[in-house]
Amino acid sequence: MSTIDQARLIDLFNLMADAIEREKDHLCELDGAIGDADHGVTMSIGFSAVRKALSEVNAAHPTDVFNTAAKAFLNAVGASAGPLYATAFMRAGAKVKGQTVLDRTAVADMVTAMADGVRSRGKADLGDKTMLDAWDPAAKAALQALEADRSAAEILSQAADAAEKGATTTIDMMAKKGRSARLGPRSVGHIDPGAASTAILLRAMADGFTAE
Ligand code: ADP
Ligand code: MG
Repeated sequence: MSTIDQARLIDLFNLMADAIEREKDHLCELDGAIGDADHGVTMSIGFSAVRKALSEVNAAHPTDVFNTAAKAFLNAVGASAGPLYATAFMRAGAKVKGQTVLDRTAVADMVTAMADGVRSRGKADLGDKTMLDAWDPAAKAALQALEADRSAAEILSQAADAAEKGATTTIDMMAKKGRSARLGPRSVGHIDPGAASTAILLRAMADGFTAE
């Protein structure tokens, strides 16, 4: 399969929800080191709400799927990740509006739109030790893969590779945004939980896409 229709996009959201469920405890442990130990729970609540909403919606286009996911995530999640992911999904939905299937260009657009959503909602700079440090390199890798004529599956897997590398770079950073910024230099030496979950989400999408 080289494109994503609305049904396939719902499958990908369910695969992301499964991956978050598997990594829930691990994400809470990461957040425990520099935050309030809830990031796994936050993401699990958000993606469970998305799963439920998508099982009930009559989506005609990928845009409907993203908008439903955005609303469900925002309503369910009170933590920082709530508005960040809601904005990311809204931006992705707006970007692919009117398209019935997502081709390789739209897949790259989806990743860059999500990164832009996180950037504009969170107002973090690169190096602030947030999920943007995973989303930004993922978006750049997706665009590079698109320009190199890669397939949609390769675009996603290269975005996931870049997100994993980006997440690792947060270990050496000092947090300047979000709850962990209160720790100042004590935040150094730990991976940012939001960057770690970004890599998990992109890997789940990439694996789900290539498994077809
Ligand atoms: P909370 O901090 O409210 O407990 P979570 O634990 O769910 O929320 O999420 C924490 C993650 O949110 C951080 O690891 C970081 O990646 C991300 N985050 C926090 N603030 C911002 C921001 N301003 N911009 C981008 N990401 C942010
Ligand atoms: Mg937290």
